[in-house]
Amino acid sequence: MAAAPTAAGAAARAGAPAGSYDAIVVGGGHNGLVAAAYLARSGARTLVLEGRHKTGGAATTEAPWPDAPEFKVTRLSYVMSLLPPTIIKDLDLARHGYKIYPMGPYYQAFPEGGSIKLYADDARRNHEEVSKWSKKDADAMPRWDAWLAGLADVLGPLLLTVPPNLGSRKPRDLRETLRLAWKNRGLDVRTVADVTRLMTMSIADLLDDWFESPQVKGALAVNGVIGTWAGPYEPGTAYVMAHHSIGDVGDGHLGNWGFQEGGMGGVSSAIELAAREHGAEVRLNAKVARILVENGQAAGVVLENGDEIRARVIVSTLHPRTAFLDQIGREHLPPDFLGDIEHWKTRSGVVKINLALSELPDFIADPGSNLQEHHTGSVEMAPTMDYIERAFLDARDGKAAVRPFSDGVIPTAFDKTLSPEGTHIMSLFTQWVPADWSEEPHTAELEAYTDRMIDCYNELAPNFKASILHRDIVGPYEMEQEYGLVGGNIFHGELSLEQLFHMRPAPGYADYRTPLPGLYYGSSATHAGGGVCGIPGWQAAKAALADQKSAKRAEQVRKLTRRS
Ligand SMILES: Cc1cc2nc3c(=O)[nH]c(=O)nc-3n(C[C@H](O)[C@H](O)[C@H](O)COP(=O)(O)OP(=O)(O)OC[C@H]3O[C@@H](n4cnc5c(N)ncnc54)[C@H](O)[C@@H]3O)c2cc1C
Repeated sequence: MAAAPTAAGAAARAGAPAGSYDAIVVGGGHNGLVAAAYLARSGARTLVLEGRHKTGGAATTEAPWPDAPEFKVTRLSYVMSLLPPTIIKDLDLARHGYKIYPMGPYYQAFPEGGSIKLYADDARRNHEEVSKWSKKDADAMPRWDAWLAGLADVLGPLLLTVPPNLGSRKPRDLRETLRLAWKNRGLDVRTVADVTRLMTMSIADLLDDWFESPQVKGALAVNGVIGTWAGPYEPGTAYVMAHHSIGDVGDGHLGNWGFQEGGMGGVSSAIELAAREHGAEVRLNAKVARILVENGQAAGVVLENGDEIRARVIVSTLHPRTAFLDQIGREHLPPDFLGDIEHWKTRSGVVKINLALSELPDFIADPGSNLQEHHTGSVEMAPTMDYIERAFLDARDGKAAVRPFSDGVIPTAFDKTLSPEGTHIMSLFTQWVPADWSEEPHTAELEAYTDRMIDCYNELAPNFKASILHRDIVGPYEMEQEYGLVGGNIFHGELSLEQLFHMRPAPGYADYRTPLPGLYYGSSATHAGGGVCGIPGWQAAKAALADQKSAKRAEQVRKLTRRS
């Protein structure tokens, strides 16, 4: 496999025997597609194997109601932010349909009356909004924003850093560790302390240090618990909030959170088009059963239908339990690594509810079902910290939240391609149901949970319930069975402290390589995942290409030495 430009790659492909590949990517989610696009772009004859009838994985647009195919929903993930500008540019994604509508403000209407809006980049309006609840909090907002932006500037570039193998004494690992320390030599005592706080505190304790109003704290806590099997009082949730607040990964400024035109499937489709343009092949309904191992190396894959396909490089983007425990014989992996993957935490308790609406919610606090600013961002159900905590405690006690938390969005406020004129799609990212609901469908309980979720919104916007034309509920069981999200975790594994950076997915293997030579790993369970950011797929492809280049050089040196 040569790291040559596309034209040379095409020539190389022309000479390759039919049906043979340089690289196989297992899984056609957005990370698999990014990996394939970069591999194919470098000239590698690349095949993507996707188990479902369509690509995209958790970044997918679907029409879930057979009797109403004109309504399309972004069935799981729903908003974009972290895709680095380099990937967008390298793969020319705008030409392939990548188009983001920046979101409006966070919006929360309160059961006791009134509402709050928080804007991503409008300090003056934030001051006005927060002043409605606390003058002191309004004055604290600019300092909070600056504090957070300073920390995001430190954490952002780390997302593009390949984590060093901490603790290893190999010269190459020591060099990488020192390089990271050198890159961060500008950090002072204060910043290190703030990062430590962020990594170890709960979002509730952190916000208590800054604000007094329960309404303001509720609105700011949302990002700390998204996709997390932890309530806002759990240590580590402050970091989850920061992960969602990063504006720059050291690669140019990221866009604000926004909606992809045509839903999140539009992001996957743009990446797929780029991969195909560079020559990658994509095979659907091609479920991989296991990785072929020969002479201690990954040598290809075997599909569920028994077909065997060979390649020198395999990039897996499946959940780590599937990729390593189900698809590779245990005898091929070191016991420590197997233990780490067996202990991988992969719970969420998330239920995604997709709704088709005949009209927009008409909030008592901000009347009118005509399109208004508060419909254009997130339409939250997180009125206070205690409300969010109660929802988590219910689920941890083994029952679905009585009053669930929700991060709602209405993409059709901008995107008219998803539903007929005058109607809308609303996507509710809700929490929590018990984590073990990934083991059974719990259909009737999910229906009841959804009824309660709708009632909560209906209390604030009394036209809501009657406006629902169709509803689609995706619980943890379906996430695991249909989409391969084991345990229903939305990121292929929790963003808890012991599973971040050099620990993701396992210590010693955070550089997108695996214990099996020839097998690379680029799912959301690696550093920079989760989320629809493409960084894991990009890094896995880069690692594979770098190793191929080194192997080629070593071979040339061997030949020259033999000749002389
Ligand atoms: C409900 C929900 C909401 C979310 N919201 C957001 C959001 O708003 N913004 C955001 O940035 N992130 C969000 N996320 C997270 C984000 O969607 C994921 O982290 C990301 O899409 C994972 O991408 P991936 O390519 O690593 O894996 P996946 O998307 O899981 O792709 C893996 C692919 O492998 C395929 N596969 C599985 N088994 C096999 C097999 N045996 N053989 C072949 N193929 C196989 C699967 O079908 C899938 O297509 C959300 C996730 C969920 C579930």
